[in-house]
Amino acid sequence: MKELSIAVLAGDGIGPEVMASGLEILSVVEAGLSDVRFSLRHFSVGAGEYLKNGDPLPPATLGGAAACDAILLGAMGLPEVRWPGGLEMTPQIDLREKLDLYNGVRPIHLYHETHSPLKGYGAGDIDFVIVRENTEGLFSDRLKSRQPDADSESDSLRITRRGAERIARAAFELARKRDGRRKVTLADKANVLPSMAFFRNVFDSVAGAFADVEADHAYIDALAVHLLQRPEQFDVIVTENMFGDILSDLCAGLIGGMGLAPSADIGDRHAVFQPAHGTAPDIAGQNCANPVAMVLSVAMMLDWFDIPETRRAAAAIGQAVAAVLADPAHRTGDLGGSLGTREMTDLITQTLSNHL
Ligand code: ATP
Repeated sequence: MKELSIAVLAGDGIGPEVMASGLEILSVVEAGLSDVRFSLRHFSVGAGEYLKNGDPLPPATLGGAAACDAILLGAMGLPEVRWPGGLEMTPQIDLREKLDLYNGVRPIHLYHETHSPLKGYGAGDIDFVIVRENTEGLFSDRLKSRQPDADSESDSLRITRRGAERIARAAFELARKRDGRRKVTLADKANVLPSMAFFRNVFDSVAGAFADVEADHAYIDALAVHLLQRPEQFDVIVTENMFGDILSDLCAGLIGGMGLAPSADIGDRHAVFQPAHGTAPDIAGQNCANPVAMVLSVAMMLDWFDIPETRRAAAAIGQAVAAVLADPAHRTGDLGGSLGTREMTDLITQTLSNHL
């Protein structure tokens, strides 16, 4: 019997509500496994933890979470709880940087035609993955100490050979594993920014080692149009940190919004799985949050464990979510329906039992 430890970081706002749904799914999965057990370790993090103890991600929590096999995260931060300088607390970004989780995987899959603002697309027609470089790019200097200057401020966009190589490799390896078009598109601004021309050169040299995967480039501004006009043509899109941040939200919009978009932040030794949405304080505590992004993030974690039983469970969760969302009556408020977090979670757990 293999025991897998999972750090549970529920966080703030709707984080604890969607986490409860994710853990219910995990317990349904666990009941059907014969070789694997999950050991959950709960940690307090986020704006609430900062208000109690002065640190949204205390070192002991970071150490405890890093010692687990995987980290499951709800959402962290609240708009009114800020550092003295005015910036919001973003311990999820700190986690990526401190645990070197360079590979931000954001699947974009349309489950039902009524979810998309684009006309003419049905279930499965939009199906690609954004691979966001998580540790450098335009975020690289955000914690650098600065001389106060009343007249200017700047951020630099840093791309290193090591950073570009490893994220390009992760994107090609992902494309190789998918049933899709086996294509990787680099989203850059290589026509204007030297850092991006460098990124493109490194990407092209990595592409040489993946002859079975098509390598493509698009300028980020042109890509924004292509994603709206012909999203079906994309398979894996790889890009730097800030571009990836923006594209993730735009593309979540293509498939119905943040409540349907899971994510994984993966490094060579650690990984964090969390819904792509934030804490959504406007709907917290009202049984309104769509739990699907969290449930699919649990599935990504099970897949990442790379044990035959957990991989099968991950596929079963994907099938259960697809089966539930195939019925247009099964919609939470964000999708124009009337189901709450509780009702949607119940539907998925009941359906999951048929797929395990
Ligand atoms: P962050 O800055 O942490 O990314 P944010 O403030 O930009 O967060 P979110 O917290 O992701 O944004 O939420 C934006 C809006 O989307 C929320 O106000 C909420 O209305 C909606 N939303 C987000 N997540 C969900 C969800 N799981 N279910 C339903 N609606 C959601």
